[in-house]
Amino acid sequence: MEKTYDLIIIGSGPAGLSAAIYAQRAGLDTLVLEKEYISGGQVVNTAEVDNYPGMPGISGMDLGEAFGEHARKLGLEPQREKILSLENISGDIKTIRTKKHEYQAKTLILAFGAEHRKLDIPGEDDLGGLGVSYCATCDGAFYKDRIAVVVGGGNVAAEDAVFLSGLCEKVYLVHRRDALRADKAIQEKVFACENIEMVWDSVPLEILGQEEVTGLKIRNVKTGEERELEADGVFIAVGIVPSTALVKDQLKLDENGYICAGEDGVTSAPGVFAAGDIRTKALRQVVTAVSDGANAVASAQKYLWRTDNGNH
Ligand code: NAP
Repeated sequence: MEKTYDLIIIGSGPAGLSAAIYAQRAGLDTLVLEKEYISGGQVVNTAEVDNYPGMPGISGMDLGEAFGEHARKLGLEPQREKILSLENISGDIKTIRTKKHEYQAKTLILAFGAEHRKLDIPGEDDLGGLGVSYCATCDGAFYKDRIAVVVGGGNVAAEDAVFLSGLCEKVYLVHRRDALRADKAIQEKVFACENIEMVWDSVPLEILGQEEVTGLKIRNVKTGEERELEADGVFIAVGIVPSTALVKDQLKLDENGYICAGEDGVTSAPGVFAAGDIRTKALRQVVTAVSDGANAVASAQKYLWRTDNGNH
Protein backbone atom coordinates (compact mmCIF):
# COMPACT_ATOMS: atom_id res chain seq x y z
CA MET A 1 0.00 0.00 0.00
CA GLU A 2 1.16 3.56 -0.81
CA LYS A 3 2.55 5.58 2.08
CA THR A 4 0.36 8.45 3.28
CA TYR A 5 2.26 11.52 4.50
CA ASP A 6 0.89 13.70 7.28
CA LEU A 7 1.77 16.72 5.16
CA ILE A 8 3.02 17.51 1.69
CA ILE A 9 4.34 21.04 1.13
CA ILE A 10 4.35 22.19 -2.47
CA GLY A 11 6.92 24.87 -3.18
CA SER A 12 10.19 25.69 -1.45
CA GLY A 13 10.31 29.47 -1.38
CA PRO A 14 10.37 31.28 1.97
CA ALA A 15 6.81 30.12 2.83
CA GLY A 16 7.40 26.48 1.90
CA LEU A 17 10.77 26.26 3.63
CA SER A 18 9.47 27.95 6.76
CA ALA A 19 6.59 25.43 6.76
CA ALA A 20 9.14 22.62 6.30
CA ILE A 21 11.13 23.81 9.33
CA TYR A 22 8.02 24.05 11.53
CA ALA A 23 6.63 20.72 10.29
CA GLN A 24 9.89 18.92 10.93
CA ARG A 25 10.12 20.33 14.43
CA ALA A 26 6.49 19.32 15.03
CA GLY A 27 7.36 15.72 14.10
CA LEU A 28 5.01 15.56 11.11
CA ASP A 29 5.85 13.02 8.43
CA THR A 30 6.46 15.59 5.67
CA LEU A 31 7.48 15.73 2.04
CA VAL A 32 8.46 18.95 0.21
CA LEU A 33 8.07 19.10 -3.57
CA GLU A 34 9.71 21.77 -5.74
CA LYS A 35 9.64 22.13 -9.51
CA GLU A 36 12.71 24.39 -9.83
CA TYR A 37 16.34 23.25 -9.65
CA ILE A 38 17.03 25.55 -6.73
CA SER A 39 14.94 26.33 -3.68
CA GLY A 40 14.30 29.81 -2.34
CA GLY A 41 11.50 31.04 -4.60
CA GLN A 42 11.37 34.48 -6.18
CA VAL A 43 13.72 36.04 -3.63
CA VAL A 44 16.75 34.30 -5.15
CA ASN A 45 16.34 36.66 -8.10
CA THR A 46 16.68 39.72 -5.86
CA ALA A 47 20.10 41.36 -5.66
CA GLU A 48 19.69 42.71 -2.15
CA VAL A 49 17.08 42.24 0.56
CA ASP A 50 17.28 45.06 3.03
CA ASN A 51 14.13 44.51 5.06
CA TYR A 52 14.43 40.99 6.43
CA PRO A 53 15.02 41.56 10.14
CA GLY A 54 18.49 40.73 11.37
CA MET A 55 20.01 40.38 7.89
CA PRO A 56 20.42 43.88 6.45
CA GLY A 57 21.70 43.92 2.88
CA ILE A 58 21.78 40.14 2.42
CA SER A 59 21.53 38.95 -1.20
CA GLY A 60 18.32 37.16 -2.16
CA MET A 61 20.34 34.13 -3.20
CA ASP A 62 22.06 33.92 0.21
CA LEU A 63 18.78 34.37 2.06
CA GLY A 64 17.07 31.61 0.02
CA GLU A 65 20.11 29.38 0.57
CA ALA A 66 20.03 30.04 4.33
CA PHE A 67 16.36 28.98 4.51
CA GLY A 68 17.13 25.83 2.48
CA GLU A 69 20.16 24.98 4.63
CA HIS A 70 18.08 25.33 7.78
CA ALA A 71 15.44 22.89 6.47
CA ARG A 72 18.17 20.47 5.32
CA LYS A 73 19.86 20.61 8.72
CA LEU A 74 16.58 19.46 10.25
CA GLY A 75 16.49 16.58 7.76
CA LEU A 76 14.10 17.88 5.10
CA GLU A 77 15.45 18.11 1.56
CA PRO A 78 12.98 19.35 -1.10
CA GLN A 79 12.41 16.77 -3.81
CA ARG A 80 12.56 18.10 -7.37
CA GLU A 81 9.41 17.11 -9.22
CA LYS A 82 6.90 18.84 -11.43
CA ILE A 83 3.33 18.27 -10.38
CA LEU A 84 0.88 17.26 -13.07
CA SER A 85 -2.29 17.27 -10.99
CA LEU A 86 -3.74 17.54 -7.51
CA GLU A 87 -6.65 15.17 -7.03
CA ASN A 88 -9.36 14.66 -4.41
CA ILE A 89 -8.02 17.62 -2.46
CA SER A 90 -11.25 17.98 -0.48
CA GLY A 91 -11.13 14.33 0.56
CA ASP A 92 -9.46 12.86 3.67
CA ILE A 93 -6.53 11.60 1.58
CA LYS A 94 -5.26 13.97 -1.08
CA THR A 95 -3.36 12.71 -4.15
CA ILE A 96 -0.50 14.44 -5.93
CA ARG A 97 0.46 13.12 -9.32
CA THR A 98 3.87 13.93 -10.78
CA LYS A 99 5.54 12.58 -13.92
CA LYS A 100 7.18 9.77 -11.96
CA HIS A 101 5.14 9.30 -8.79
CA GLU A 102 1.79 9.42 -7.11
CA TYR A 103 1.91 10.76 -3.54
CA GLN A 104 -0.75 10.75 -0.84
CA ALA A 105 -1.15 13.05 2.13
CA LYS A 106 -3.64 13.92 4.84
CA THR A 107 -2.87 17.62 4.53
CA LEU A 108 -1.34 19.93 1.94
CA ILE A 109 0.38 23.29 2.24
CA LEU A 110 0.29 25.12 -1.08
CA ALA A 111 3.26 27.47 -1.24
CA PHE A 112 3.90 27.65 -4.95
CA GLY A 113 3.91 31.40 -5.09
CA ALA A 114 3.59 33.57 -8.10
CA GLU A 115 5.26 34.12 -11.46
CA HIS A 116 6.21 37.16 -13.55
CA ARG A 117 3.41 39.07 -15.23
CA LYS A 118 4.02 39.51 -18.93
CA LEU A 119 3.51 42.67 -20.96
CA ASP A 120 1.90 40.79 -23.85
CA ILE A 121 3.38 43.06 -26.52
CA PRO A 122 5.02 42.18 -29.85
CA GLY A 123 8.62 41.01 -29.50
CA GLU A 124 8.26 39.86 -25.89
CA ASP A 125 8.06 36.14 -26.67
CA ASP A 126 10.16 36.15 -29.84
CA LEU A 127 13.08 37.93 -28.16
CA GLY A 128 12.86 36.00 -24.86
CA GLY A 129 16.46 35.13 -23.91
CA LEU A 130 17.70 37.38 -26.73
CA GLY A 131 17.59 40.54 -24.69
CA VAL A 132 14.21 40.21 -22.97
CA SER A 133 14.56 39.19 -19.33
CA TYR A 134 12.45 38.99 -16.19
CA CYS A 135 15.44 38.74 -13.84
CA ALA A 136 18.06 41.49 -13.64
CA THR A 137 20.23 39.70 -11.11
CA CYS A 138 20.30 36.55 -13.28
CA ASP A 139 20.95 38.22 -16.64
CA GLY A 140 22.32 41.69 -15.80
CA ALA A 141 25.96 40.70 -16.32
CA PHE A 142 25.28 40.22 -20.06
CA TYR A 143 24.62 43.96 -20.32
CA LYS A 144 27.84 45.26 -18.78
CA ASP A 145 28.65 48.69 -20.28
CA ARG A 146 25.57 48.48 -22.48
CA ILE A 147 22.12 50.07 -22.38
CA ALA A 148 19.18 48.52 -20.54
CA VAL A 149 15.52 49.42 -20.15
CA VAL A 150 13.56 48.39 -17.07
CA VAL A 151 9.77 48.45 -17.31
CA GLY A 152 7.68 48.85 -14.14
CA GLY A 153 7.32 51.09 -11.11
CA GLY A 154 7.27 48.71 -8.13
CA ASN A 155 10.00 47.54 -5.76
CA VAL A 156 11.32 44.98 -8.21
CA ALA A 157 11.62 47.46 -11.11
CA ALA A 158 13.30 50.04 -8.89
CA GLU A 159 15.74 47.50 -7.41
CA ASP A 160 16.49 46.12 -10.87
CA ALA A 161 17.23 49.62 -12.17
CA VAL A 162 19.63 50.32 -9.29
CA PHE A 163 21.32 46.94 -9.73
CA LEU A 164 21.71 47.42 -13.49
CA SER A 165 22.97 50.99 -13.06
CA GLY A 166 26.07 49.49 -11.43
CA LEU A 167 26.76 47.42 -14.54
CA CYS A 168 25.33 49.28 -17.50
CA GLU A 169 26.36 52.47 -19.19
CA LYS A 170 22.78 53.72 -19.02
CA VAL A 171 19.44 52.51 -17.69
CA TYR A 172 16.00 53.78 -18.68
CA LEU A 173 13.24 53.16 -16.14
CA VAL A 174 9.94 53.25 -17.99
CA HIS A 175 6.82 53.63 -15.84
CA ARG A 176 3.22 54.12 -16.89
CA ARG A 177 2.52 56.83 -14.30
CA ASP A 178 4.34 59.88 -12.93
CA ALA A 179 5.16 58.37 -9.53
CA LEU A 180 6.81 55.11 -8.55
CA ARG A 181 4.95 52.53 -6.49
CA ALA A 182 8.26 51.36 -4.97
CA ASP A 183 9.10 52.01 -1.29
CA LYS A 184 10.59 55.45 -0.52
CA ALA A 185 13.98 54.02 0.44
CA ILE A 186 14.38 52.29 -2.93
CA GLN A 187 13.07 55.33 -4.80
CA GLU A 188 15.78 57.45 -3.21
CA LYS A 189 18.42 55.02 -4.46
CA VAL A 190 16.96 55.24 -7.99
CA PHE A 191 16.96 59.03 -8.03
CA ALA A 192 20.54 59.10 -6.72
CA CYS A 193 21.86 57.08 -9.69
CA GLU A 194 23.14 59.45 -12.35
CA ASN A 195 22.92 56.90 -15.16
CA ILE A 196 19.23 56.07 -14.58
CA GLU A 197 16.89 58.13 -16.76
CA MET A 198 13.25 58.10 -15.68
CA VAL A 199 10.74 57.81 -18.50
CA TRP A 200 7.43 58.74 -16.90
CA ASP A 201 3.84 58.27 -18.12
CA SER A 202 4.91 55.80 -20.77
CA VAL A 203 3.69 52.39 -21.80
CA PRO A 204 5.68 49.88 -23.83
CA LEU A 205 4.25 49.11 -27.27
CA GLU A 206 6.81 46.78 -28.86
CA ILE A 207 10.19 45.26 -28.14
CA LEU A 208 12.32 45.93 -31.19
CA GLY A 209 14.93 43.69 -32.82
CA GLN A 210 15.35 40.71 -35.12
CA GLU A 211 18.09 38.39 -33.81
CA GLU A 212 18.42 40.35 -30.56
CA VAL A 213 16.86 43.31 -28.78
CA THR A 214 17.71 46.70 -30.25
CA GLY A 215 15.20 48.85 -28.41
CA LEU A 216 11.76 49.48 -26.96
CA LYS A 217 8.96 51.41 -28.61
CA ILE A 218 6.92 53.40 -26.09
CA ARG A 219 3.97 55.79 -26.04
CA ASN A 220 3.53 58.70 -23.67
CA VAL A 221 0.00 58.29 -22.26
CA LYS A 222 -0.41 62.04 -21.65
CA THR A 223 0.82 63.40 -24.99
CA GLY A 224 0.26 60.37 -27.21
CA GLU A 225 3.81 60.77 -28.54
CA GLU A 226 5.51 57.55 -29.64
CA ARG A 227 9.27 57.07 -29.61
CA GLU A 228 11.94 54.39 -29.60
CA LEU A 229 14.48 53.91 -26.84
CA GLU A 230 17.67 52.32 -28.13
CA ALA A 231 18.68 49.48 -25.81
CA ASP A 232 20.41 46.10 -25.70
CA GLY A 233 18.26 44.58 -22.98
CA VAL A 234 14.67 44.98 -21.78
CA PHE A 235 13.97 43.92 -18.20
CA ILE A 236 10.28 43.44 -17.47
CA ALA A 237 9.24 43.94 -13.83
CA VAL A 238 5.52 44.66 -13.93
CA GLY A 239 4.41 42.51 -11.02
CA ILE A 240 3.41 38.97 -10.39
CA VAL A 241 0.49 36.67 -11.06
CA PRO A 242 -0.39 33.75 -8.80
CA SER A 243 0.53 30.26 -10.00
CA THR A 244 -2.87 28.78 -9.29
CA ALA A 245 -3.47 26.80 -12.50
CA LEU A 246 -3.33 23.47 -10.61
CA VAL A 247 -6.09 24.39 -8.17
CA LYS A 248 -8.22 26.97 -9.96
CA ASP A 249 -11.20 24.62 -10.29
CA GLN A 250 -10.85 23.10 -6.83
CA LEU A 251 -10.37 26.03 -4.45
CA LYS A 252 -12.01 29.37 -3.92
CA LEU A 253 -9.89 32.11 -5.54
CA ASP A 254 -10.28 35.88 -5.29
CA GLU A 255 -10.92 38.14 -8.29
CA ASN A 256 -7.17 38.37 -9.00
CA GLY A 257 -6.67 34.60 -8.94
CA TYR A 258 -5.08 34.32 -5.46
CA ILE A 259 -6.24 31.50 -3.15
CA CYS A 260 -8.74 32.83 -0.61
CA ALA A 261 -7.14 32.17 2.78
CA GLY A 262 -6.61 34.17 5.95
CA GLU A 263 -3.53 34.35 8.13
CA ASP A 264 -4.19 30.80 9.33
CA GLY A 265 -3.86 29.58 5.73
CA VAL A 266 -7.24 27.82 5.83
CA THR A 267 -8.65 27.45 2.30
CA SER A 268 -12.06 26.35 1.02
CA ALA A 269 -10.90 22.68 1.04
CA PRO A 270 -10.52 20.89 4.38
CA GLY A 271 -6.91 19.99 5.15
CA VAL A 272 -5.53 22.25 2.42
CA PHE A 273 -3.64 25.37 3.51
CA ALA A 274 -2.13 28.23 1.51
CA ALA A 275 1.03 30.13 2.45
CA GLY A 276 3.04 32.96 0.94
CA ASP A 277 2.43 34.99 -2.22
CA ILE A 278 -0.23 32.57 -3.45
CA ARG A 279 -2.85 33.60 -0.90
CA THR A 280 -4.96 36.73 -0.54
CA LYS A 281 -3.00 39.16 1.62
CA ALA A 282 -2.14 42.81 2.03
CA LEU A 283 1.65 42.59 2.00
CA ARG A 284 3.69 40.18 -0.14
CA GLN A 285 7.14 40.10 1.43
CA VAL A 286 9.63 37.46 2.53
CA VAL A 287 8.85 38.22 6.14
CA THR A 288 5.10 37.65 5.69
CA ALA A 289 5.70 34.50 3.60
CA VAL A 290 7.84 33.04 6.37
CA SER A 291 5.15 33.82 8.91
CA ASP A 292 2.52 32.19 6.66
CA GLY A 293 4.55 28.96 6.56
CA ALA A 294 4.56 28.73 10.35
CA ASN A 295 0.84 29.52 10.64
CA ALA A 296 -0.09 26.98 7.97
CA VAL A 297 1.73 24.21 9.85
CA ALA A 298 -0.08 25.16 13.07
CA SER A 299 -3.39 24.92 11.17
CA ALA A 300 -2.40 21.58 9.62
CA GLN A 301 -1.52 20.23 13.07
CA LYS A 302 -4.91 21.30 14.44
CA TYR A 303 -6.66 19.67 11.48
CA LEU A 304 -4.66 16.43 11.88
CA TRP A 305 -5.38 16.31 15.59
CA ARG A 306 -9.12 16.69 14.92
CA THR A 307 -9.31 14.15 12.09
CA ASP A 308 -6.97 11.62 13.74
CA ASN A 309 -9.28 11.77 16.75
CA GLY A 310 -12.35 11.16 14.64
CA ASN A 311 -13.69 14.75 14.58
CA HIS A 312 -14.21 16.25 11.14
P1 NAP B 1 4.17 45.50 -8.02
O1 NAP B 1 4.50 46.11 -6.70
O2 NAP B 1 2.80 44.95 -8.24
O3 NAP B 1 4.48 46.60 -9.13
C1 NAP B 1 4.22 46.34 -10.46
C2 NAP B 1 4.52 47.60 -11.25
O4 NAP B 1 4.36 47.35 -12.62
C3 NAP B 1 3.61 48.76 -10.87
O5 NAP B 1 4.35 49.95 -10.78
C4 NAP B 1 2.62 48.80 -12.03
O6 NAP B 1 2.20 50.10 -12.33
C5 NAP B 1 3.44 48.28 -13.18
N1 NAP B 1 2.64 47.54 -14.17
C6 NAP B 1 1.75 46.54 -13.95
N2 NAP B 1 1.25 46.09 -15.12
C7 NAP B 1 1.83 46.83 -16.09
C8 NAP B 1 1.73 46.82 -17.49
N3 NAP B 1 0.94 45.96 -18.15
N4 NAP B 1 2.45 47.72 -18.18
C9 NAP B 1 3.28 48.58 -17.55
N5 NAP B 1 3.43 48.63 -16.22
C10 NAP B 1 2.72 47.75 -15.49
O7 NAP B 1 5.16 44.29 -8.39
P2 NAP B 1 6.69 43.97 -8.05
O8 NAP B 1 7.52 45.19 -8.07
O9 NAP B 1 7.04 42.83 -8.92
O10 NAP B 1 6.63 43.44 -6.57
C11 NAP B 1 5.84 42.27 -6.28
C12 NAP B 1 5.66 42.17 -4.76
O11 NAP B 1 6.92 41.87 -4.14
C13 NAP B 1 5.17 43.48 -4.16
O12 NAP B 1 4.28 43.17 -3.14
C14 NAP B 1 6.44 44.09 -3.61
O13 NAP B 1 6.23 44.98 -2.55
C15 NAP B 1 7.20 42.86 -3.16
N6 NAP B 1 8.67 43.14 -3.14
C16 NAP B 1 9.19 43.73 -2.06
C17 NAP B 1 10.54 44.03 -2.02
C18 NAP B 1 11.12 44.67 -0.81
O14 NAP B 1 10.38 45.02 0.08
N7 NAP B 1 12.42 44.84 -0.74
C19 NAP B 1 11.35 43.75 -3.09
C20 NAP B 1 10.79 43.18 -4.20
C21 NAP B 1 9.44 42.87 -4.22
P3 NAP B 1 1.24 50.93 -11.32
O15 NAP B 1 2.14 51.40 -10.21
O16 NAP B 1 0.73 52.02 -12.15
O17 NAP B 1 0.20 49.97 -10.87
